[in-house]
Amino acid sequence: MVAQRLDGKACAAEVEEELLIRITACKEKGIKPHLAVIIVGDDPASHVYVGSKVRACERLGIQSTHIELSADSTEEQVRDAIFSLNEQTGLHGILVQSPLPNHMDEEALTDLIDPVKDVDGFHPQNLGRLVQGRLDGMLPCTPSGVMRMLSWAGIETEGKTAVILGRSRIVGMPQSLLLGAKGIDSTVTVAHSRTKNTADLCANADIVIAAVGRPEMVTADWIKEGAVVVDVGINRVDDSTRERGWRLAGDVHPDVASKASWLSPVPGGVGPMTIAMLMENTVRAAEQSYTV
Ligand code: NDP
Repeated sequence: MVAQRLDGKACAAEVEEELLIRITACKEKGIKPHLAVIIVGDDPASHVYVGSKVRACERLGIQSTHIELSADSTEEQVRDAIFSLNEQTGLHGILVQSPLPNHMDEEALTDLIDPVKDVDGFHPQNLGRLVQGRLDGMLPCTPSGVMRMLSWAGIETEGKTAVILGRSRIVGMPQSLLLGAKGIDSTVTVAHSRTKNTADLCANADIVIAAVGRPEMVTADWIKEGAVVVDVGINRVDDSTRERGWRLAGDVHPDVASKASWLSPVPGGVGPMTIAMLMENTVRAAEQSYTV
């Protein structure tokens, strides 16, 4: 079997087309969706991600505000920036780019974002709604992007067994809640660094979602013939054959394509979907600003 490509770039392009219609409707009501991104420090990967988000805003006609703070800023300075953005009318979404410097408490800062502007979906109020099975609010962008991609490809989830590799607040845990939610109806197992029989769990799964951060950890012998495999991982690995000396690798080995029915590529899979879902959350927040 050769896996079909779970093409996040193509799916994201369709999401953007739908968003353009909604953004036009917002503008007709005098509202221009507006996203603010706070970035602290000079982690090169974070600056690349923020650049992609700003470019997506430009493509869609969403206003973006970019707040850069130096790595030695205090937590109080970030807090003040969040409070000021919370107060700003006409600003609909706030995102604090992860990771923050080690001297800052990322979760505590996320808690300060007004939940209606929490376009990352990490505020306890929004995660709590997800735990309650309410899927109509601000959902975390990466896992909701995975769900959109599965639905776009017509992949059946009801009654399927799914293994999620990773239990982070950002990806693995909300992903497990989404896949197991009523109406999506997969039976979910969450594996983490202490799980003993990870390969065996994967070998029995209809759907495997890898969100670990270990390059090409999931190999073809872990995967059942015909399984759907989603690779969330983005890892930079040394590669002397490339001029720049490195390449991006997922958490899934490319050989998995010989066993899986569907496989998402890295890059071009979950990454573009994460950004598309961020744009959608921003547009939703803007729409809510005139419907409430
Ligand atoms: P974290 O480091 O927060 O979490 C990693 C998870 O993997 C943890 O739950 C950890 O377990 C688990 N883990 C570690 N080793 C193993 C193992 N051997 N077997 C099973 N589970 C293991 O990472 P994130 O969730 O933030 O990100 C995961 C990956 O996804 C990264 O490569 C990241 O770059 C990428 N990513 C991609 C995005 C995209 O848009 N495509 C967006 C966000 C992340 P434990 O809890 O026990 O430590």
